[in-house]
Amino acid sequence: MTKFTDLNLNAKVLKAIEEAGYESPTPIQAGAIPPALEGRDVLGIAQTGTGKTASFTLPMITMLARGRARARMPRSLVLCPTRELAAQVAENFDTYSKHLKLTKALLIGGVSFKEQDALIDRGVDVLIATPGRLLDHFERGKLLLTGVQIMVVDEADRMLDMGFIPDIERIFSLTPFTRQTLFFSATMAPEIERITNTFLSAPERVEVARQATTSENIEQGVVMFKGSRRDREASEKRKLLRKLIDGEGEKCTNAIIFCNRKMDVDIVAKSLKKYGYNASPIHGDLDQSQRMKTLDEFREGSLRFLVASDVAARGLDVPSVSHVFNFDVPSHAEDYVHRIGRTGRAGRDGKAMMICVPRDEKNFNAIETLVQKEIPRIENPLKLEKPEPPKEADAPKEKQAERKPRSRKPAEKPVEQQAAPTPKPAPKSNPKPRGRDRHDRGGRVVGMGDHLPSFIALSFDERRAS
Ligand code: AMP
Repeated sequence: MTKFTDLNLNAKVLKAIEEAGYESPTPIQAGAIPPALEGRDVLGIAQTGTGKTASFTLPMITMLARGRARARMPRSLVLCPTRELAAQVAENFDTYSKHLKLTKALLIGGVSFKEQDALIDRGVDVLIATPGRLLDHFERGKLLLTGVQIMVVDEADRMLDMGFIPDIERIFSLTPFTRQTLFFSATMAPEIERITNTFLSAPERVEVARQATTSENIEQGVVMFKGSRRDREASEKRKLLRKLIDGEGEKCTNAIIFCNRKMDVDIVAKSLKKYGYNASPIHGDLDQSQRMKTLDEFREGSLRFLVASDVAARGLDVPSVSHVFNFDVPSHAEDYVHRIGRTGRAGRDGKAMMICVPRDEKNFNAIETLVQKEIPRIENPLKLEKPEPPKEADAPKEKQAERKPRSRKPAEKPVEQQAAPTPKPAPKSNPKPRGRDRHDRGGRVVGMGDHLPSFIALSFDERRAS
């Protein structure tokens, strides 16, 4: 087996690796470090969790250890799709270069231009940036890319998803033709293939096995779920999520809960909080300081549930996440691999559970095809709930079960409705109960039934009041 000492890395880098506690290089490191140190271009096909960040930071630090940076002309450039990933790469540089004197700057949105300009003015060895922010600096005339000797593109497939490819092409064209390029992507979409053919020169292709991420130490499961009614599906799904979490008990020390849409990230986080779970959302629309704070809390363990979108959680490095819950089936099969790769890291056991509604079955099938195995079906825990004994002899069973939670603690009202302004109290002259109560007549459905969405009741009242 390859050892770090076989790789020709700088002695001070080796010391930092030892202090980080790594015993041996991961396959992507063993494959990418030697050609990178020879000055060759590398095309790494690897997901997060494989140790890919160190596979480019370690040779870069070794190569940059000699030489000095000039003002405004960074010697190397790392492009990342998200601020979080960029910040994480920067942390990696700090860890591995701690015994060397290298300077770095992080150019990401949400951080003031002034501070970043001052760093660049002094000259940096490593510039880590998101593409948009880098180009902003460039256009302000504060930065020259003609001194870039090594350029890294990290998570190129995510750049493609986020529409950054034109920016990447532009940045490539601003750097010297003679630069060395280290290019990483989890998948090789045709567009990515095209970019690598255009901008990489005879790269060493290093691919790590796909099954490395849906690794055997991650227990997977899926609940095939259909709401009792379409308009209840969202709230029932949130209830199901709580059941799944509760079912794991203390084994679930912390978890990332993935939703496909930012709006659902907020709704699910709010709903969990309402039910007493220690949860916070993270997605691209939250401001940078809030995102960093939430991530820090999750890393430290003071936050138990991180509700996230794919982009925000991409590359998120929290070494011990016990569970991943996919509140939604991701629409790109590869995202499933990324999502569940947040757990079961560094050889630990992990568990990944997913909720699949009928309209997501096509995407779910694509996931099973990609991971080349059947994801075990989990019995819907809501079905196992004991219904309450009937209170009224003639009331339909189903109605009774539905009424039960409503008369008890927090009504499972969709959170989006909670955000609506509080309805004005009904005028005294109108003694009719409003909304759902209006129809609570011995379990019989009257008119729209007891499913009248509360926003309809709200607009009636407002019109009446005006
Ligand atoms: P990455 O794929 O770069 O996101 O890395 C995933 C995790 O693996 C990070 O927490 C790294 O600190 C860790 N890691 C990287 N290289 C090694 C190694 N050779 N041995 C053990 N852990 C590692």
